[in-house]
Amino acid sequence: MTQKNFKLIFTLYFITFGIVITLFSSFVSYELQLVNISESIDKSAEEISFIKKIHTLKPDIEKLDSLLVALSSDKALHSYLQHPTKEAKAQSSNVFYTVAMSNHLIMQARYIDETGKEHIRIDRTNSSSLPFAIEEAKLQDKSGRDYFQIVRKMKPDTLWHSKIDLNIENGKIEIPYKPTFRIATPIYLNEKFKGIVIVNILINETIDNISKSTVFDHYIIDKEGNFILHPDERFSWSKYSGSSIKLIDVFPLNASEILSGESKGEYFYAYSLDDVLQNDDNARLILKPKQEYIDLLFMSNIKASIFMILLSIVLSIPLAMYAAITPSKLQRALVLSNEDLVRFADIIDRYVLTITTKTNSIITAVSSAYVKLSGYSKEELIGQKTNILRHPSTPKKVHQELWNTIGEGQEWKGELQNKHKDGSGYWIDQSIIPLKDEKGSLLSYMSVGIDITSKKELETLSVTDRLTAIFNRRKLDELLSVESQKAKRYERPLSLLIIDIDYFKKVNDTFGHQVGDTTLQSVATLLQQNIRNSDHVGRFGGEEFMVICPETDSDHASALAEKLRLAIDQYSFETLGHATISIGVASLKHEESVEAWVKRADCALYRAKENGRNRIEIDA
Ligand code: GH3
Ligand code: MG
Ligand code: MG
Repeated sequence: MTQKNFKLIFTLYFITFGIVITLFSSFVSYELQLVNISESIDKSAEEISFIKKIHTLKPDIEKLDSLLVALSSDKALHSYLQHPTKEAKAQSSNVFYTVAMSNHLIMQARYIDETGKEHIRIDRTNSSSLPFAIEEAKLQDKSGRDYFQIVRKMKPDTLWHSKIDLNIENGKIEIPYKPTFRIATPIYLNEKFKGIVIVNILINETIDNISKSTVFDHYIIDKEGNFILHPDERFSWSKYSGSSIKLIDVFPLNASEILSGESKGEYFYAYSLDDVLQNDDNARLILKPKQEYIDLLFMSNIKASIFMILLSIVLSIPLAMYAAITPSKLQRALVLSNEDLVRFADIIDRYVLTITTKTNSIITAVSSAYVKLSGYSKEELIGQKTNILRHPSTPKKVHQELWNTIGEGQEWKGELQNKHKDGSGYWIDQSIIPLKDEKGSLLSYMSVGIDITSKKELETLSVTDRLTAIFNRRKLDELLSVESQKAKRYERPLSLLIIDIDYFKKVNDTFGHQVGDTTLQSVATLLQQNIRNSDHVGRFGGEEFMVICPETDSDHASALAEKLRLAIDQYSFETLGHATISIGVASLKHEESVEAWVKRADCALYRAKENGRNRIEIDA
């Protein structure tokens, strides 16, 4: 993967991250904004309802209340009641007229006597026309009307407010609708009921003023849930218009709640008008935010959120590109170093001899290099115990020591000969490392090594006599020196045998060099077969051999010499038949040099020759 790809990947990664964060925060801010919207609508509803009730409706009604109080306590009316003359009536009628003139909403102002008969009546056709007095003959009997029946039973100086209703003229609802509100008070003279004063007020202007708003739809309902005011004019006065629309149709979930008192729900606010109207309507003013207004608030919220998202995306692109520089470089370095590691591991696998085993010596992994060297396949090795690789010539002692060392958790180092699948041997310079867990318990062993078979062959070659395959003179010299030093240091016995074939010149002369050579080989083999593992045998020169016997005194050395002499004497050589050897034996003396020691053995050999050959002589 190229560096560019990494940059792209990290850039996309960071952009995605940025977008997720933006979407989440936009969502949260959108939700918070919704709470704000609903709070601000709540607040507007409170303010608007207060203004509509207290600043619009209440003053209008209070003004009319005080007009009625003024009218009912007017002197002219009272003197007419005391002295019902034509003049007094005309005077009182004038006052009614003046009051009607003073307020264009007054549609009717009347005095009705205690029997229910109209005495004074000022009418107005509509709010823009002038009031006029109704002539005597057209005055009516209102004793049957509910307002008369109610007010006549009221105490002095109390005011009665009617329900808000449509004006009824001659038993019919007047068209266009004239929402009418009546205010009345009883008149008493000397504590005697003398009739009522009643004023009809056109209240459509007030209602119009209430309904005007760009934010809320306004509704007024009566206690039965009929609309007195509905934003759609067709449904106002639903009780009379024959429209079947009622509160429950507009607020199906909240109708009963609204009717029962002041309430507030999801986007509606209901307020009682009882305190202002003081009548039997039990009217409620309902404010409902206009859909356009809610949509506008929502749209502006959505627009703000979208703007935030776009802005964040636009900003996050260069930021993500910048932020991607460092990680993409690191990633690149990581990939490169990983490639190096893989290459390295491959090289190790191909060129380093590694074996991993469990603590019970079961092989769990093996390198290709080892597979190649051992002749086995990976499958043949894995699952086997390591002794499948043991060479028979390696002393058991070596393996014991090896397992003891690693079993104690220590590293073992050494040269080990192992067995090829075909039975041949190969040499490894090995380090076996115990692998432990964090608590220090042994988990497994790992062996790392190099093939030293060639080196070992070379080493063997340099100390081996080519003809007889036993040690050469150089090795014998080295052994003489090493063993003599050991014997002296530890004060141990050390003996030496110098062996010479008798009349060997004759063998060559009679049978030729070839037979001489094979005789030399046979003698070497016989000597090797008859000595201990700890003894060293080598060709000292020509047809002379030497045996170095550590831990051996002169008696035991003599016995060995005799044994060797006999073995040759009794052996039947090919072509040659019989041959004999003479042996000189000498044990190392304390403080003696190697040269002096060898010389003594040589002298003993000389004596053996002198004394008739096929015998041994000892220089004690
Ligand atoms: P003696 O009993 O006194 O030892 O008589 P000898 O004939 O063995 O005398 P000497 O030890 O002096 O003889 C050594 C002879 O061994 C000389 C040489 O021809 C022979 N010889 C030495 N090295 C070799 C060898 O590598 N191969 C063969 N075929 N003969 C060798
Ligand atoms: Mg000789
Ligand atoms: Mg000889």
